[in-house]
Amino acid sequence: MILLEGVTKVFEGGTVALRDIDLDIKKGEFLFVVGPSGSGKTTLISLVLRELRVTRGKIWVAGKDITKMPTWKVPHLRRSVGTVFQDYKLLPSRTVAENVGFALEVLGRPRSVIDRQVQQVLELVGLQTKGDRYPRQLSGGEQQRVSVARAFVNRPPILLADEPTGNLDPATSVGIMRVLDRVNRTGTTVLMATHDHAIVDAMRRRVVQLERGKIIRDETRGTYESINRVGDS
Ligand code: ADP
Ligand code: MG
Repeated sequence: MILLEGVTKVFEGGTVALRDIDLDIKKGEFLFVVGPSGSGKTTLISLVLRELRVTRGKIWVAGKDITKMPTWKVPHLRRSVGTVFQDYKLLPSRTVAENVGFALEVLGRPRSVIDRQVQQVLELVGLQTKGDRYPRQLSGGEQQRVSVARAFVNRPPILLADEPTGNLDPATSVGIMRVLDRVNRTGTTVLMATHDHAIVDAMRRRVVQLERGKIIRDETRGTYESINRVGDS
């Protein structure tokens, strides 16, 4: 579903954010990308979204080589990749339902289809009674659930989440993880960048660990810290 081969990203000024990354993410997988601040997590997500271009290497997303893709095709690529960020990025002057349905409106979908899909996805995230509220009338955890609903409303095969629990307390974060787990169980491939130890340890999913732009661990049902680290008791 997502395949990186020999991907290197060097920023102007010479920072090597990612170094010769090979990564194969299958359809329906749930994968955490972990590592300290500056290790390259956001760069990896931005490359998959074609917000950044690789310096070297190849990336395939949903069967397409996006390193060669012409710019005019990128909006279409992004329709198959939902995104969730640390800061919910909701439109403050629109209701929850309008925020969630916005992308479908832009695509010119009929009102009846939009209403039905918005209602379904609000149920999925547990906000079916809050469609008429404005973002400022919601808690942080609820706002993040709205942004998951918005990312998932057109049922993309891939969901990318960059530190989605970064602004939330531990109990609220668990709620967001339940929602992402539900999204994953519909068959959606989920890639989540995080440095939230508790979440990763509770979920026991595939863990890819970055350190200074290199993959130093790729474990199937991993924890945040490697259990086999030298020096651990
Ligand atoms: P993380 O998300 O793991 O905190 P990032 O991918 O944001 O890490 O950053 C990886 C490295 O690339 C860091 O050294 C960061 O300073 C650098 N970097 C990120 N974005 C840019 C940019 N637009 N220009 C130059 N350097 C950048
Ligand atoms: Mg980041």
